[in-house]
Amino acid sequence: MNRLAAGPAPASSPANLAALHAQAFPMLGRAMIDRAAPYGEEISAEPGSVLLNSGDAEAAFYILLQGYVEVLECEGDGAMHSLLVHRDGEFTGSLDLFTDRPNAVTVRADSPSRLLRLSRAALEALLLAERPLAEIILRAFILRRIGYLRQRPYGGAILRSAARAGQEDPVMDLAVIGGGPAGLAAAAYAASEGLQTLLVGGSLSCGDASGMSALKGFPGTITGLCDGPLLRRAEDQSSRFGAHFLPLRTVSRFDGGCYPYRVWLDDGRMIEARSLIVATGMQEGKAGQPALEANTAWLDGWLDTDDQGYIHTGRAAAGSMQARAYESSQPGVFAVGAARAGSVKHVLASIAEGAAAVRVVHRFLDASAH
Ligand SMILES: Cc1cc2nc3c(=O)[nH]c(=O)nc-3n(C[C@H](O)[C@H](O)[C@H](O)COP(=O)(O)OP(=O)(O)OC[C@H]3O[C@@H](n4cnc5c(N)ncnc54)[C@H](O)[C@@H]3O)c2cc1C
Repeated sequence: MNRLAAGPAPASSPANLAALHAQAFPMLGRAMIDRAAPYGEEISAEPGSVLLNSGDAEAAFYILLQGYVEVLECEGDGAMHSLLVHRDGEFTGSLDLFTDRPNAVTVRADSPSRLLRLSRAALEALLLAERPLAEIILRAFILRRIGYLRQRPYGGAILRSAARAGQEDPVMDLAVIGGGPAGLAAAAYAASEGLQTLLVGGSLSCGDASGMSALKGFPGTITGLCDGPLLRRAEDQSSRFGAHFLPLRTVSRFDGGCYPYRVWLDDGRMIEARSLIVATGMQEGKAGQPALEANTAWLDGWLDTDDQGYIHTGRAAAGSMQARAYESSQPGVFAVGAARAGSVKHVLASIAEGAAAVRVVHRFLDASAH
């Protein structure tokens, strides 16, 4: 049997790193800013004024029209440490804007500045209505989440991979199946929080992976990885971000009868994982059935689903006496996004579910380690 090994990442070139940085911190042109303007209010900020406070639940999204704002984080001893400075046309924010997590950073004006300020609700409205902007912003947020957290020292029990440093463990902590908004968000949080993570499945916009031609151009483009060579390069480089990323592959079979769980890829390789997040979305029904159904046939009946294949989770999952949110009828197998029964079929809701499920995965892994 051909088994997937968690091998070392190939070295990355400065040019590729620069390209990724540019996608994580893009500069919006005049036309894009004009599209965003009706959703926000223009404000002025004096040097030193704080726009966002680390730890506060209240968050907002800012596009810098003129000036400089600095992003700072609080060190353990209370001192503020500068992470980066945003300039004209750049924007603040991260995936945390779609979750209930408090602000991870403080944002402060460094010069007399003019900004466009959007509340969380206004940002959501903008992202749902303005797809070109949504792609730029969501791709940047995902890359920031991964890049930012991997740079900083991150104490605590969740650095599972570091705790095993030096040991080659081919069993993944988490396999995320499906690389749409829900799966990408889940993999970004999991990898940045120290879980050895594998993401299988590509972006919706490629159309061919899921066969959902009707959805071409819909927000699954957030990776911006829409052609074969680019996807392959992403696959080669992904483990630098802490996630092993197989965007060109699909999962064809799942075996829930043994633990660690096993999934088979379409190229015959097999992956073992201690936990699984299913984020394979939905697809058009079979011929003559216009309704959408969940993309879950590959689970081969191992999870409790409704008639359209949408996965039951939490209390609705058969046999779950002590239900964990997002957990299916199979312990340690979670479902998020469109494939989950009862989920809100919105791209932002899917991102929030992907991010939130990772917390529950940590709890499952912690409990099963004892
Ligand atoms: C016609 C239509 C229009 C919509 N319009 C809007 C809208 O305007 N605004 C909005 O917010 N939402 C809209 N939605 C809903 C939105 O598309 C979904 O809520 C969102 O895409 C769900 O994200 P997801 O990550 O759960 O699944 P998806 O985006 O479906 O992503 C699933 C991913 O899993 C991959 N995959 C599938 N099977 C496998 C496998 N076996 N192995 C590996 N990978 C696999 C797919 O290729 C895909 O990349 C629309 C949906 C439809 C159907």
